[in-house]
Amino acid sequence: MAETADVVVIGAGVVGCSVAYYLAREDVNVILLEREAIGSGASAHATGSLSLLGAEFTAGASFHMARASYAEFVQLVPELETATGMDLLYQRRPSLRLALDDEEADLIKSLMVWQEPHVEMHWIDAQEVRSIEPRLSLNIIGAMYEDESAQLDSYRFNLALARGAELKGASVLYREVTGLVTDGPTVRGVKTAGEDIHCDAVVVAAGTWSRAFSSWLDFPVPVRPMKGERLLLNYPGEPLPVLISSPKRGHMISRKDGLTSVGSTGGRDYDEKELFLGEEFDRQPTETARLELLQRAIDVLPDLERAELVQQLAGSRPLSPDSKPIIGPAPGWKGVHLATGHTTKGIHLGPVTGRIIADYIRRGSTDVVADMSEFLPDRFADFADGDYLTAARSVDE
Ligand SMILES: Cc1cc2nc3c(=O)[nH]c(=O)nc-3n(C[C@H](O)[C@H](O)[C@H](O)COP(=O)(O)OP(=O)(O)OC[C@H]3O[C@@H](n4cnc5c(N)ncnc54)[C@H](O)[C@@H]3O)c2cc1C
Repeated sequence: MAETADVVVIGAGVVGCSVAYYLAREDVNVILLEREAIGSGASAHATGSLSLLGAEFTAGASFHMARASYAEFVQLVPELETATGMDLLYQRRPSLRLALDDEEADLIKSLMVWQEPHVEMHWIDAQEVRSIEPRLSLNIIGAMYEDESAQLDSYRFNLALARGAELKGASVLYREVTGLVTDGPTVRGVKTAGEDIHCDAVVVAAGTWSRAFSSWLDFPVPVRPMKGERLLLNYPGEPLPVLISSPKRGHMISRKDGLTSVGSTGGRDYDEKELFLGEEFDRQPTETARLELLQRAIDVLPDLERAELVQQLAGSRPLSPDSKPIIGPAPGWKGVHLATGHTTKGIHLGPVTGRIIADYIRRGSTDVVADMSEFLPDRFADFADGDYLTAARSVDE
């Protein structure tokens, strides 16, 4: 007998698993299809930083979506931990966004102008920075202090979402989707390496690979890979009391399992383009990135010279042309939705994406974000291979 579901979700990264979880939570019959393994795409490589304050969210709807998703984690994490028995290594702590030169200070302060009314934060001088963490470099000229930011283990989060969806009735099947079953402009199912699966709605959440759906949909899904690398270190000193980042040097986080995460590469002005823009998902760690990341970390906290490398992670983010996610109904289709292109923020924006897609499928619209226009797929209706580099200009995780 042919397999059937109300909704087929394609791709078991954090985005696809979030969509499956939010739908299953509303008693929708979901099949989640994955061609390789849960978290085998970008999601298992991510820092898991849930920060509102980089240059990546812009004023207005983008920031509104970021805050809505940040708020989801507060309930979602304990809900998943209770259901699955997993510890997601979730931590909520103050953060410092460091400036090591005037350019960084100006950038941070220019963002604060519109961020400050929404987030508890203030500028502190170098002396105050070192009173919080005396091991930080003497070159730091000041920092933005944020009362609360958050981070979790993105791989565990990915696994917990998948298991949580299963516990709510979703099925996870390991099969590659090779096409769509259609009837005119209406989707009737998906073709897989095994049998076809019949359904009323399809959600494309295939990360970097979502671009393959352009030809099946006859509509552009302009997502391409943006490689990133980061390091996990074993540092013998006391854990950092705050979550740390800086615009040019990235993040430095003492995780709840005792490891220190530093990184990431990808998109900053001084990253070599060939190191982060390719045609395929790239899992290959490079020596160039390792040395660069260690140097950046030591610039910020010289005592990290004593740290040992535990793991180097490499993966490709799904980069969209404007770095904003592509979420919502695919134009010209009945029953096809896109949930992709989350670029540097797919872990942070996974839960809100799940909620929004569940709204579109269940109710035909969403009010999670008042104005969805800057995220809807139809903004790329006339897309012809544009300049992706503008989107890749800043990476804070
Ligand atoms: C070094 C690094 C650090 C990062 N740090 C952060 C961070 O701190 N915070 C943050 O929010 N984001 C971060 N990101 C970005 C984040 O990882 C991505 O935005 C996010 O993982 C994208 O999730 P996704 O589910 O869309 O894609 P993916 O995780 O790539 O999942 C897509 C899945 O689809 C499957 N698939 C593809 N095609 C098919 C098919 N035809 N049939 C079936 N299955 C298919 C793939 O196998 C894959 O499992 C980071 C990324 C990197 C590389």
